[in-house]
This record gives sequence, C-alpha cells and structure tokens, in this order.
Amino acid sequence: MSAAGRFAPSPSSELHLGNLRTALIAWLAARSQGAPFHLRIDDLDAGRSRPEIAARQLADLAALGLDHDGPVPWQSQRTERYSAAFAALEASGDVYPCFCTRAEIRDASRAPHGAPTAGYPGTCRDLTDAQRAARIASGRVPAWRFRADPAAVAFDDRVLGAQSLPAEDAVLRRADGAFGYQLAVVLDDADQAIGEVVRGADLLGSCATQRQLQDRLDLPHTTYAHVPLMVGADGARLAKRHGASGLADALAGRLDVTLPGLPPGVPATAVQVRSALALTAGLTEPGAQPTLDDLVCTFSYERLPTGSTMMHGCSS
Ligand code: GLU
Repeated sequence: MSAAGRFAPSPSSELHLGNLRTALIAWLAARSQGAPFHLRIDDLDAGRSRPEIAARQLADLAALGLDHDGPVPWQSQRTERYSAAFAALEASGDVYPCFCTRAEIRDASRAPHGAPTAGYPGTCRDLTDAQRAARIASGRVPAWRFRADPAAVAFDDRVLGAQSLPAEDAVLRRADGAFGYQLAVVLDDADQAIGEVVRGADLLGSCATQRQLQDRLDLPHTTYAHVPLMVGADGARLAKRHGASGLADALAGRLDVTLPGLPPGVPATAVQVRSALALTAGLTEPGAQPTLDDLVCTFSYERLPTGSTMMHGCSS
C-alpha cells in the first residue's frame, strides 16, 4: 500500500468551494494510488479556531463522500510532541530567539527604495549572548525562529514541476508559547505516515522550510502536489468577502459564486456540487455526474488546470 495522503483544514472559517475542491483532489490522488487518506484539524491558532467549525468541515467532507482512515488528530492535543521536537531543535542550535516586533520586521525589510523584501531580514539571527541578555533584561519575550539553511531547496512538485525555493527563518514557537505551523506540519505528516502532501498552491512557498525541518528532525521527506486555487473575480483566493461559497450555501441554493452546471438560486445536491468541482478541475465532462469510483479511475494530476480557476459572482 502506498504512503498516505491527507487534508488538514484550519477550523477558523468554513470550507469554501476552493478548499472542498482541494480536498476532493487530495482524496482522489490518494485513492487512485490505493493509499490511505487521513484528515487532521489544524487548530494551532487557539484564538481563531472553533470546534464547531471543525465539526462542520468534517461533515462537509463526509457529505461529498470523502471518507478517511484512522482517527482525526487535532493539533491542539499534540503540544507534548511539538514541545519535544522543539527542545531537540533548541539543543542542536537549529532555533534562535527573535525579539523583533512586527513593525521592526516591516521596517527592517524595506529595501533602500522603500519596497518591503520577502521573509524575515535576519535581525536576531546572530545576536551575541550580551545582546540577547540586554533584550531579555528590557522585558522582551522572544519568539523562536528556525535557523534555515540559505541554500535553495530543489524538489519536484507533481503538479507544478521542478522547483528551487528558499527556506525561511519561520517562527517555530511564538512569544506566547504557541507552536508554529511549519514545525507542527512536519511532525503531523511524519506521524500520520503521509507520503504525498496535496494542498493549495498558496502553500508552495512552505515546502523548502518543511524539507529542511524534516532533515533536521530526521523525519522522512514527503512529496508535494500543489493544486490550483479557486479565486474570486478580483484574482484573490476565494474568501468570505466573495460572498456565500460553502457547501451549505450550495445545498440551500444561495451561492454568491457560480459553479458550472449549478443554476444560481436553485438548491443543489452534494453530488451535483462534487461533479461541478470535478468539472472545474478538469476531472470530468460537462453534464456528467460521475461517482467517486469513476473519478478515481480517471484521476491524473495531468488533467488539472495549469492556473487558478476564476469564480464569478452570480450577478456578473
Ligand atoms: N491548515 C492549512 C490550511 O488550511 C493547510 C496546511 C497544509 O496543508 O500543509 O490552509
């Protein structure tokens, strides 16, 4: 049996059609390889995560027929695991304390002509012990950043092809003690024996950091498939401001975005929504209502569109 696939929603807002399409593709990719498919709840951000949203996310996936194997871990329950790995990184000098405020990072990141440059500018990377002590004495509590290797990381994305990207000095532990996404995700993927990470193309930039973290923590590498996003008519990733765009909205006939084959204002069935999502992903033909088995049989990454899918409003 192949290594597992997964879908890992953050329960801070409802799944929209773009998230659901990513989940469908991730499920099809795993099942077409005869692989297990796992879910997990990315609720690291305690302030924004809501258990009732997670429950609706799981229900939406089930309504589309996307089943999963094994238990569903919640990141909020895995602090001990993150803490042990963080301690190992601290012991090996792979993290350093960062005292910068957001405003300081913004200002330090400005190139001479004033435009911000990408990533953390490295202000605290090589502070002396005395400089660290002075900052602590002034009452600043540090976040902890990954000491990334500046060499670019090369890997092949199953959808986007050959990549060579820099890793970032990502925050692995915030000043309030919460662990960061990059640390949690590599541990979660390793513990769920994930082989191929299928997720939205907006997360491509995380791969290099995650690869380097896997190496430092002696975790197996995952392969990657970053799938096209659904974007609003303004070109931005589908979000609340584009209006009603969840499964419940589609089932109630109140979508604010149009999906091919779903007349605006008319309640759809879950199978119609799934077929429409598959159609926008190039995985079925107009008018067809394939079963999941049909979609598994014909799935291939090569069929996915090369760019984002633009969603228009019902009125446009
Ligand atoms: N929880 C992340 C999100 O909802 C996905 C993380 C991942 O797939 O690595 O965007």
